[in-house]
Amino acid sequence: MSGAGLEVTGLDLPRDTAGFTRRECPSCSRPFKMRPGPFDARAVMHKLQSFFSLENSHECEDGLPLWRCPYCGQRAPADDYLTPAQQTHLESVARAWANHVRYEQMAHVSRTLSLNPRPTFVAVPPESLPGPMDPEADELLRTLPMLCCGDDLKVLWDWDQPLFCPYCGTRHGGLSGRQQVELRFIHE
Ligand SMILES: [Zn+2]
Ligand SMILES: [Zn+2]
Repeated sequence: MSGAGLEVTGLDLPRDTAGFTRRECPSCSRPFKMRPGPFDARAVMHKLQSFFSLENSHECEDGLPLWRCPYCGQRAPADDYLTPAQQTHLESVARAWANHVRYEQMAHVSRTLSLNPRPTFVAVPPESLPGPMDPEADELLRTLPMLCCGDDLKVLWDWDQPLFCPYCGTRHGGLSGRQQVELRFIHE
């Protein structure tokens, strides 16, 4: 019943030139960036599923990690960290894909009813699926090594309070005086 060879593209989250993907905390709405990992595809699929079904998608957290916001420390499933722009895009993909599936079903029905002298409907081809998301901008975030998990994080320049590792939740102290001087030096 599904469309033959219908490929859903444009589901890759965009990366900036350094290879980072944007996230947004669902609690405090502050932006940060992480390197994309194996969980991104799963988070995207999870989000897509939630657009298809009306069930509470959080009931089936099949292996989605809980991430911690680096700033406010709140924990949430990885797909909650998709930015509003990413979610809007995924929703449009989900809607277009559903239209394609419906079209294929209707076209199948009208084909099998071809002996019917007066077909009651004509299946209208849907619009093509949305293309990829806009590329991720390189904005002024500073890269911070997360020594606990061996990965880098991009965070707001002016954040001088403790930061949480999104993966393991380790709290990393605020900038030392020396780091702040160095940062100011780099900034000028
Ligand atoms: Zn937050
Ligand atoms: Zn960590």
